[in-house]
Amino acid sequence: DKFKDGLSKSRKSFAERMNNLVKRYRKVDEDFFDELEELLIESDVGMTTVMDLVDRLKNESRTRNIKDTNMLKDVIVEVLSEFLTKHKEETRLNLNPSGLTVILMVGVNGAGKTTTIGKLAGRLKNEGKSVLLAAADTFRAGAIDQLQVWGDRTGVDVIKHQEGSDPASVVFDAMQAAKSRKIDVLLCDTAGRLQNKVNLMKELEKIKRVISRECPGAPHEVLLVLDATTGQNALSQAKLFRQASEVTGIVLTKLDGTAKGGIVLAIRNELDIPVKLVGLGEQLNDLQTFDADAFVYGLFS
Ligand code: GDP
Repeated sequence: DKFKDGLSKSRKSFAERMNNLVKRYRKVDEDFFDELEELLIESDVGMTTVMDLVDRLKNESRTRNIKDTNMLKDVIVEVLSEFLTKHKEETRLNLNPSGLTVILMVGVNGAGKTTTIGKLAGRLKNEGKSVLLAAADTFRAGAIDQLQVWGDRTGVDVIKHQEGSDPASVVFDAMQAAKSRKIDVLLCDTAGRLQNKVNLMKELEKIKRVISRECPGAPHEVLLVLDATTGQNALSQAKLFRQASEVTGIVLTKLDGTAKGGIVLAIRNELDIPVKLVGLGEQLNDLQTFDADAFVYGLFS
């Protein structure tokens, strides 16, 4: 139901337009496929994925001898689900069963990193885990205070230095604190300066070195936070971050704020990184583990 609520804008736009298309055409032909293609592109599914999808649908309609658009609609739902689930990836977070888990959050400013860390801290605490936050976005004005607000809200301590200080040294202190307090999960915020790719890469490398030196095997997750409302930009950001760091999972935020939920399909089809979490609102409970079936259901019903 959370998915259904969160996807209401996408559902309105996508499902309604598709229903109209189906009614208007009745017969499956080239024009129908052209318009379907356009609808998918406008829903941010992304050109490569749209081509794959439409090819697949054309094939299915031919082999199954489907001439009626209404019947093809079921196949569309089926094929979309298949695209979303074809990589049977692990969407659960990789948590260390014994000892400290370190999760590094990366992504451009405004994508929703801090908010996601807050939500995740709340969720992990609810599961009975002890959590600590590292305010290693020392670059963006207000980032440290904003993380502290989430720390207060969830009752989780924040390790922080002054704005402008070395993020790796914040992370070093946080690692010491996490180890001495026997914390279960340390969540590290980072700065998202994509303007300077070399610096970003160096900074992330340095942070990761500190983490793995202090805790072999860590970080257990590097989660890339992407804003779903930025559409194809999110996709190109993902490609850049993938070069800068080894991303283990994607958090797609603000799905509630876009009518173009199709971006999930593009991400799943064009990147080899699983979508692990999705943000469906600004509140503490608006973070969900990604579930492809619930997603398709939320989009169509
Ligand atoms: P950061 O710069 O990456 O740390 O981004 P923030 O966490 O500060 O988020 C930027 C804005 O996006 C804030 O106003 C958040 O409340 C909002 N936001 C984050 N996640 C979501 C989401 O899933 N849905 C909605 N509607 N807003 C979100």
